[in-house]
Amino acid sequence: MPERPEQDVIVIGGGPVGLAAGMSLAGQGLRVTVLERDGEAVVAGPDVAERAWGRWHRPGVAQFRQPHILLPVGTALLRERLPRVVDALEASGPLRINLVAAGREVPGMGGPRPGDERYDTLTARRPVLDAAFATAAAATPGLTVRRGTEVTGLLTGAEQLQGRPRVTGVVTQDGEELRAALVVDAGGRNSPVSALLARLGGPPPASERAEAGFVYYARTYRAVGDAPAQSPWPLNHHEGVSTIVIPADHDTWSAVLVVSSRDRALKGLHDPAAWERAAKLFPELDGRTDGEPITAPQAMAGLHSRIQRTVVEGRPVVTGLVHVGDAWASTDPQFGLGLSMGMTHAVALADTVAGTGLTDAVELALRFDEVTGRTLVPVYRRLREWDRHRLAEIDAAIAGRPYETDDPGWHLTNALDGVKLADPDVLRAVTEVACMLDSPEGAFSAPGLVERALTLNGGSAWSWPGPSRAEVLAAVEAG
Ligand SMILES: Cc1cc2nc3c(=O)[nH]c(=O)nc-3n(C[C@H](O)[C@H](O)[C@H](O)COP(=O)(O)OP(=O)(O)OC[C@H]3O[C@@H](n4cnc5c(N)ncnc54)[C@H](O)[C@@H]3O)c2cc1C
Repeated sequence: MPERPEQDVIVIGGGPVGLAAGMSLAGQGLRVTVLERDGEAVVAGPDVAERAWGRWHRPGVAQFRQPHILLPVGTALLRERLPRVVDALEASGPLRINLVAAGREVPGMGGPRPGDERYDTLTARRPVLDAAFATAAAATPGLTVRRGTEVTGLLTGAEQLQGRPRVTGVVTQDGEELRAALVVDAGGRNSPVSALLARLGGPPPASERAEAGFVYYARTYRAVGDAPAQSPWPLNHHEGVSTIVIPADHDTWSAVLVVSSRDRALKGLHDPAAWERAAKLFPELDGRTDGEPITAPQAMAGLHSRIQRTVVEGRPVVTGLVHVGDAWASTDPQFGLGLSMGMTHAVALADTVAGTGLTDAVELALRFDEVTGRTLVPVYRRLREWDRHRLAEIDAAIAGRPYETDDPGWHLTNALDGVKLADPDVLRAVTEVACMLDSPEGAFSAPGLVERALTLNGGSAWSWPGPSRAEVLAAVEAG
């Protein structure tokens, strides 16, 4: 009889998704070890929000101090499946908002409606969110989190399926070998696990990486006096630039300018004075750059969308290993869906394991791929398609010509987005889709809704007036 490994599951990466997967699996009575490369102890106790924000060092998560919003679907999943995380977050003073609270107060939008509580969420700055996950994980029976432990290799067993590796454990930076029935890759968007897997040989996964992406220029503020009112809608698109306003805990918020990574002329936005000059051109940022800046404009580039599937033509290319969260697929951050997709994925993994057990590794791989394909791949594809059009549209703006496409889906998406603050039903439908609560087909299925929206739309795709790209460029270069 082979010796039973000391743990049933090893999770590589102690970010929100790795910890959510670890807690959910430990909740089924499995023995789970999470290995996290970053060694710094979790921030907890009184004043946790400010200490997490100011002092917690997490080099393993490049976006750790970039703005994050936890959307309603993520919050709802935590409430239902991981209430310990919600308790820890509640203790740190999170922000409670409803995504449609400001939009429904726009004149003519009719105010609140029964059912709007679907759009309630609890959010906070990313270090504060992560501290809540870490605190909850530390209190979860059956779960061990080892910080300062980097996975540098994968172990395989004899039980291979026709040249397809069967992963049976991991090797750490100190050469320690740890075995488990299941290894979960939650190493984030730069996880090394796919490269480690490639070294084992075997057929490659089906993977795809977009050829271009966006650059994020984000600045976080703290209110001096009252915090600004919630924006009618957090994400607005203009010629060549999108803006985001993300409210957070303790009267802080972030404003973000998002540009194409190919728009090199706008690279000057990393300069604080240039960023402020440009931000002032956007009406929706009015009053939202007036607080005390608590970061410089932080640039984050290389934000390509990427996905991989380890079941190819109906067969797993590897067993004993699954990828979750950003390690499985990373999407354009402007939609703020990464954490919610990751929570959905972590819970789906736990539910799959509850159904299949850990012994039949092929069945587990197939079932997890099936549920991933059904629930999350369509969201990835939708965001990826939006990116493709948007980047091409920005390319056209740089070249000084209008963007032309014969894809009616792009025109329809823009037309609906453009009237979300003019029709209360469209606002709810757009919110359903934006928050991953429904598919576009489901959200807009009410008879006559799309036709009404198209009548309302006067031909303009954008809900806010704003500057041209040339005006933004002039503001950036004005210094
Ligand atoms: C600029 C930006 C803004 C974003 N804004 C939002 C937002 O508003 N809302 C939202 O929901 N999402 C947002 N996202 C997406 C969100 O950050 C990710 O979806 C989320 O971090 C995924 O969590 P994760 O646990 O999968 O990975 P991560 O948070 O990246 O965690 C991975 C962990 O694995 C560890 N690790 C890596 N390799 C190893 C190894 N070899 N051994 C051990 N440990 C390892 C790392 O140290 C890290 O702790 C944003 C992303 C970016 C880039």
